Amino acid sequence: MLVGSFDSLLVLFSFLVAVLASYTALDLVGRITSAERVAARWWLCGGALAMGLGVWSMHFVGMLAFHLPIKLGFDFGLTVLSLLIAIASSLLALWIASRDNLPARHLVLGALMLGCGIAAMHYTGMAALQMQPGIVYIPALVVASIAIAIAAAGAALWIAFRLRAYSSRVRSYRVGAALVMGLAVVSMHYTGMAAARFPLGSICGAARNGLHNDTLALPIIVVTIAVLAVVLITSVLDLRLEMRTAALSASLEEANEELSYLVLHDNLTKLPNRVLLEERLKFAIESAGPAEQCFAVMFLDLDGFKSVNDTFGHAIGDLLLIQTADRIRANVRLQDTCARVGGDEFVLIASVREPADASIIADKLVSAIDEPFSVAGHDLRVSVSIGIALFPADGADVEALLKNADVAMYHAKSVGRNQACFFDGAMNTHTEDHLALLQDLRLARKRRQFVLHYQPKFVAPSGPITGVEALLRWNHPTRGLISPDTFIPIAERTGLIVQIGEWVIDEACRQVSQWRRTGRPTLTMAVNISALQFSNTRLVPAVKNALERYQLAGEALTLEITESTAMRDVDASLEILERLRALGVRISIDDFGTGYSSLLYLKRLPASELKIDRGFVSELVADGEDAAIVAAIIALGQTLNLKIVAEGVETGAQRDLLTRLGCDSLQGFLLGRPMPALEFEGLGRALPQGV
Ligand code: C2E
Ligand code: MG
Ligand code: MG
Repeated sequence: MLVGSFDSLLVLFSFLVAVLASYTALDLVGRITSAERVAARWWLCGGALAMGLGVWSMHFVGMLAFHLPIKLGFDFGLTVLSLLIAIASSLLALWIASRDNLPARHLVLGALMLGCGIAAMHYTGMAALQMQPGIVYIPALVVASIAIAIAAAGAALWIAFRLRAYSSRVRSYRVGAALVMGLAVVSMHYTGMAAARFPLGSICGAARNGLHNDTLALPIIVVTIAVLAVVLITSVLDLRLEMRTAALSASLEEANEELSYLVLHDNLTKLPNRVLLEERLKFAIESAGPAEQCFAVMFLDLDGFKSVNDTFGHAIGDLLLIQTADRIRANVRLQDTCARVGGDEFVLIASVREPADASIIADKLVSAIDEPFSVAGHDLRVSVSIGIALFPADGADVEALLKNADVAMYHAKSVGRNQACFFDGAMNTHTEDHLALLQDLRLARKRRQFVLHYQPKFVAPSGPITGVEALLRWNHPTRGLISPDTFIPIAERTGLIVQIGEWVIDEACRQVSQWRRTGRPTLTMAVNISALQFSNTRLVPAVKNALERYQLAGEALTLEITESTAMRDVDASLEILERLRALGVRISIDDFGTGYSSLLYLKRLPASELKIDRGFVSELVADGEDAAIVAAIIALGQTLNLKIVAEGVETGAQRDLLTRLGCDSLQGFLLGRPMPALEFEGLGRALPQGV
């Protein structure tokens, strides 16, 4: 027998190639499983190619490590065939390991086929030597080598299947598994080699025309390692890309979820918004079913919110809204929907068995919101007006229910706020009425339906008259004399107040100019300015024009601005007030005590007069709470050098008390009601005239 020998360096190298090929194979199975369908197919084919090449070159390097005392070569055709067998087996192996599941039956069958494939590759490779006489194989060792191949294939398939999911742990498991598999493949090879015996005098038939040891070794090694490396690197990069894509799509999904939340919720209070409300309402109507299960739609609108916003700014207003939303939430059941549908407007959908249930919920909300709020160190008070519409009685669709709840809410406001009202069919005629009134209001100025009444202001306690306040009246052809409390809010909401107000300024200036020329040279005229009018750019020019037109000194005119209007945007107010003062006009702070003035701001305002709100005056009794407030206001005014006027003086007791407390002037029904110009002229003859 010829004695063979092995080049130990190449043997070691063949082992390394086997390990690398195994690792690549394991990695590829993971790739195939997680990649998309089309990509998976590519990974399967490319992977089979790389892995086949790896297994085959391990075998071939092993062959190159083998030396006989004769010259060896390999037949080209058989060598290529052995490579093809290796690739085909790899394809089979990868396909099996990347299936969704691996039942025992498949594992056994796969191990058999793969093991036989590897053995076939090995013995085909051996046949490529074309030994003459032929190689003598020791049967037991051949069987052992095939058994090792099958066992190794089974283990490889099982490990590959188990380790295909990616995780950092799996990576190190894979390295271990690759070592074991490499060892198995190598031992199969060398067992096969040990089974081969070469009779003495054998010659290698392929030595002359085939591929040669010395020329083949290096290229095969280089190409194999290059291919395996490229495949491995591609696989790792692809995995990274895939993971990044997965992370990206996860964050996209998250963003999508957030977006749909934002679209359906109010940003500030996190309550559902109108869109979601209408959807839920629709759903509630649909799922009420033929039994027409009852539910209530409540329209909530805060009272006095505007003045908080005007006085403290939007940031505080926002915080108040958040707290209000929390209180509403705390007072309704989880299954009820509460949405924010506008600035200070909320809508609640609550399932109820009978109207009384709705009434209980609404009352709870009214008293919850009536409690003082503590916002950023300020004690704030608002209340809520609630309109309730019931399904199915008060509306069969979303629109009708919302509209009727809204109508009922307006009714709640008009009957005194801070309460809940059920919708009633008659309220709708009220709305129509309201619309008709608005229509008339638009034309009232042109139709000369406005008149001014004048209420005198007296030096406390009983005269003389220092000036008059112009109070607007609307002489409606069918409704009679309408009070400003009825139509000024409408004019404010629609912006009509600007042109109506201009008429008031003009008419009041004309009147006072006439009176000053005819016997009352020092009489002053006070004109009320509403919030919208105050912030309108036309105000200053309108005042200037009127003064010029009637050749009136600025001091003849006092503009009454309510406390909350003045405090709305203090810096803007200051600028307007300065410009008015430049015209010589005086400023009076009306309804003082009802807003939230800060003393600091009050000091900065160029006002010359404070009018104590008649709410305090009407409740006035000596040593009562209101007397204390009035005393404080008067003390405050005096330190700020402001004249103090008390309005709404109706009784002698009030007059005396206010005088004692230090009021400069008094105004009220006791001393003189608002009256037409002619009547005032008549009064002038009866009463002592101003200074
Ligand atoms: P205001 O400026 O506080 O005017 C005083 C209101 O109190 C007037 O009501 C007056 O008639 C009423 N009053 C006067 N003395 C007494 C009294 O002793 N007892 C009672 N209970 N009430 C008294 P009026 O004329 O109905 O005006 C209501 C509000 O409408 C005014 O409050 C003012 O804010 C606004 N207003 C009136 N005229 C105009 C106007 O030309 N332009 C603007 N923007 N608002 C106006
Ligand atoms: Mg006034
Ligand atoms: Mg007032």
